[in-house]
Amino acid sequence: MRIVVVGASAAGIFTSLILSRAGHKIVLLDRDPLAIAPDVESAAAAAFRAGAPQLVQPHVLLPRVRELLIQHLPHLYHALIAAGVQEAPISTQMPSTLADKSPHPGDERLTLLMTRRSTFDWVLLQSVAAQHNIEPRFATRSTGILVDKGNPPQVIGLRTTTGDLTCDLVIDASGYRSPIDQWLRDVGAQPTQRIQAECGVAYFSRYHRIRRGATPPGPRTTRLVVGLDEFTVGIWAADNDTVQIAIAPLASDRRFLPVRDSRVFSAVLTSVPYFKNWLDVLEPISDVYAMGAVQNSLRRLVVNERPVVLGLHAIGDAICTTNPTLGRGLGMALSSALEIDSILQHEPDLARQAFHFDNFVSTGIQPFFEDQAAIDAARLAALRSKIFDEPAPSPPAPRHDRVSFAELRSASAFDPILFRAFWRVFGMLAKPDDIYSDPAITERTRSVLAEQEPPSPFPQPSREQLAAALAV
Ligand SMILES: Cc1cc2nc3c(=O)[nH]c(=O)nc-3n(C[C@H](O)[C@H](O)[C@H](O)COP(=O)(O)OP(=O)(O)OC[C@H]3O[C@@H](n4cnc5c(N)ncnc54)[C@H](O)[C@@H]3O)c2cc1C
Repeated sequence: MRIVVVGASAAGIFTSLILSRAGHKIVLLDRDPLAIAPDVESAAAAAFRAGAPQLVQPHVLLPRVRELLIQHLPHLYHALIAAGVQEAPISTQMPSTLADKSPHPGDERLTLLMTRRSTFDWVLLQSVAAQHNIEPRFATRSTGILVDKGNPPQVIGLRTTTGDLTCDLVIDASGYRSPIDQWLRDVGAQPTQRIQAECGVAYFSRYHRIRRGATPPGPRTTRLVVGLDEFTVGIWAADNDTVQIAIAPLASDRRFLPVRDSRVFSAVLTSVPYFKNWLDVLEPISDVYAMGAVQNSLRRLVVNERPVVLGLHAIGDAICTTNPTLGRGLGMALSSALEIDSILQHEPDLARQAFHFDNFVSTGIQPFFEDQAAIDAARLAALRSKIFDEPAPSPPAPRHDRVSFAELRSASAFDPILFRAFWRVFGMLAKPDDIYSDPAITERTRSVLAEQEPPSPFPQPSREQLAAALAV
């Protein structure tokens, strides 16, 4: 088949690599003039793209991404390691409260890959260049679809700023701001269905490098993300001795606007003792990158049990974006690319392809979206109550048949079995509900939470100390 993929970021490149290996001819479009930088540091310096501002934000590759890369795109996995990406075994993520740190069977599956997003994209672009049946067309924007009129219409090609392309299938991997609904309206088709859930966070991030000869205050590959009383803060190492740090307040909390300034960014971090210790061994290697309007959203192309279009699938952020704090975007993109490959291999009928893929979205993507929406609703209510004096959220009614993400996370800090269960959800190796409503997990979580004293609170600034840091 001749397939046009719109968008040459993670989702588009995963799809192009997987489908080209299955023998399809791929045209890979991107509106930006993408080029392979000579090395990872030049790639990092040139990574900012206005249309995809998340590419300069801190990233991590979850265990599911690592596992799927090893299984399906092993050359990419090896190229990442060769580019300086670090493996973070699960033992490096164990909190001090977990007394039993002995290895368990299956721990290897829970390994993370620590990388800057720019290094990851650098490796992805190189792999595109090495694949002979992918034709990259960069600096080319898709502006619409060509269809055979019908109900629903069938896509037969794509309009672009460098001319029309005919094809058998279009994959929309154009990200959160996908123009797919405009394309559909332009040909008189019904738009997709979009479900949104509030996410409400802004991101301020900066890259650092560990000073030569300095001893970090903790394991480099520990990914620490802490929900403080008034904001979230996270730190974790990436490739080539780099360390990514993010401050993520409520997007509506205007007090944090000055964090764009690197001095204020450092002052806020210095007000949190654990982060101050890290700053002492780091030197900054970038400006502060700010990003607002982070969203939870889900798109369906089968609406009222009818595909809105045939011969067109959407994947990656064009289908689903979730609060990045849990880093699920690339896992969803890679799983979707593999699903499309499998559908194309087994199902020639375009309508049935649409139903199959929509079924995957509802069973393989939507559970992660809904999990994130529930986690965010609880966190946003807690932050608003603390910061804006809104009424405190009432604690969720205890349920005996399932646990919440927060309950499992709290109990996982003490119990080795629950620690692995939590990491299976966090690492996207299990669907949230399969773990939350597992009777053995539920019972164990309840008993650990009943027995354990809650851990002492993470040392953090008082409101006055935070205000002073923000006023630097
Ligand atoms: C702050 C932050 C941190 C994150 N951290 C993580 C993490 O740790 N782990 C993780 O897995 N995920 C993370 N994510 C999510 C992850 O970045 C996204 O899921 C991922 O980038 C989505 O890739 P994509 O290819 O679907 O879309 P995008 O990366 O948005 O790419 C879309 C591409 O399409 C192109 N394009 C758009 N319109 C057109 C057009 N009309 N014609 C041609 N080309 C077009 C764009 O130029 C772009 O290259 C994070 C997100 C944010 C915001």
